[in-house]
Amino acid sequence: MNKLKYEYIIVRFGELYTKGKNRKEFINRLVGNIKKSLLQFIDLKIQKTHDRIYITLNGEDEKKVCEKLKYIFGISSFSLAVKCPSDLAAIKQIALEIATNDHAKTFKIITKRKDKKFPLNSDSINREIATTILKNTDKKVDVKNPELPIHIELQETFTYITLNQIAGLNGYPVGSNGKTLVMMSGGIDSPIAAYLMMKRGIEIECVHFASPPYTSEQSKQKVVDLVQTLTKYQPNIKLHVIDFTKLQLAIYEKTPESYAITVMRRMMYRLMDKLATQQYLISFVNGENLGQVASQTLHSMQAIQAVTNKVVLKPLLTYDKNEIIKIAKEINTYEISIIPFEDCCTIFAPKQPTTKPKIELCEKYEARIDYDSLITHCLENIETHNISEIKIDNEDFF
Ligand code: ATP
Ligand code: MG
Repeated sequence: MNKLKYEYIIVRFGELYTKGKNRKEFINRLVGNIKKSLLQFIDLKIQKTHDRIYITLNGEDEKKVCEKLKYIFGISSFSLAVKCPSDLAAIKQIALEIATNDHAKTFKIITKRKDKKFPLNSDSINREIATTILKNTDKKVDVKNPELPIHIELQETFTYITLNQIAGLNGYPVGSNGKTLVMMSGGIDSPIAAYLMMKRGIEIECVHFASPPYTSEQSKQKVVDLVQTLTKYQPNIKLHVIDFTKLQLAIYEKTPESYAITVMRRMMYRLMDKLATQQYLISFVNGENLGQVASQTLHSMQAIQAVTNKVVLKPLLTYDKNEIIKIAKEINTYEISIIPFEDCCTIFAPKQPTTKPKIELCEKYEARIDYDSLITHCLENIETHNISEIKIDNEDFF
């Protein structure tokens, strides 16, 4: 018997059900994101219904398309499918072909009857098809734990027949919950913070503070490479690299060592605040984690947060380092993050930073610096990289 050709992919989006009247907007966003991500496959046809997205392959490579779908937030699962007319004989024949082509010893037919006018109910359809397979193969039915679950989705004119469901990433479609700026260092944490925000449906742009010549081209390249890795989830990401050197040198010249980190982070927040305002954004994000380093105590966070009214999102606040590393390995940022290049925070790191900074003291030290003009200088010297997803063109999938 010829190998069955899957001509369709059915995409499901579980979590969106909970969004009530916003659902239409969410589905439209998901369809838009799928189209953007699959742009290179020009023959695909993508159609939506109220609870599914159907992709017609039209000869495009199913494995490559599936590989892309695995990285789109908002998809709960997807399956390769065969389509036939909603006619019991036709459905039976395809189900039998699928069963014959598979090495599994046990199977189960799971029918969802969307066309309630169909003469048989779901149970009867299950029984009819199972009987055909039992008669023509030596496979057995296992309703609890089948090796081969065959799903029959019966609609008015067409029926889709699918095998296993490939897990999607869940979450919300990127962009469906607004946009934010992510403070992106070359470390392990910030790319994961970015990933988690995208998972909640937030589109991102990234901001990196570099201090050349104290930080090198390679350390900047590392950040570019991290953002490049994240373009699997959002096909185009802007990275703004800010020349932070002058401001940083002024801080270290004018501030007692124990306050240098706090003041430096207050300056970073001031810059983030201005960059967010330029784009009418109300928030920014970082990879801070309670207790990990001196600048990440509750007291430090309060002193640093005081310079901005924006919502400062810290998705990793309560994570253990091991949990963060686990995600970093899963999304392939870990190997890049551990490449040892200097960061602007590490090279100027003071020996004994305070863990309980006082806002009045921060303000007193900052008054010694003409930071308004240095911040303006930073904002006038931004290098923006438009980082795009690399097209898949090799054959090594799965
Ligand atoms: P990471 O592993 O992400 O570098 P970290 O544990 O080293 O985090 P810190 O260096 O204290 O923590 O930085 C806390 C957060 O501040 C980072 O997660 C990042 O969001 C932001 N940040 C730190 N340095 C920079 C930088 N040079 N450019 C942009 N953001 C930065
Ligand atoms: Mg760091």
